[in-house]
Amino acid sequence: MRHAPRVLIVRAQEQRGAQRLHGSSDFDGPLIADAITQASLCTGCIAQKTGLPASKVGEGIARVAATLEVTTRVGRCHRCLEETVVHRIG
Ligand SMILES: [Zn+2]
Repeated sequence: MRHAPRVLIVRAQEQRGAQRLHGSSDFDGPLIADAITQASLCTGCIAQKTGLPASKVGEGIARVAATLEVTTRVGRCHRCLEETVVHRIG
C-alpha cells in the first residue's frame, strides 16, 4: 500500500519518457526537477543542491525541459539571492 504513490509517479515519468534514456545510469532529471519545483534557482545553486557538477546541470535542465515546462529567465535566485539567470518548473 505504502508503495503505491511512488509507483504511480514512476509510471507517470515512464509514460513521459523521462526514464527511457538508456546508456546513462545517472540520469539527473528528477534531481534537478525536484530542486527547481519549489524555487527559481541559478545553475550554481542547482549544482550545490543536487550535488551535480555545474557542467551537468545545463544538460540536465535541457532533459527536464523535454518533459516538463521549465521557465528560464533573469531573476533573483531564491537561494543565493543573486540577480542572474534562474530556472524553475512551470
Ligand atoms: Zn543561486
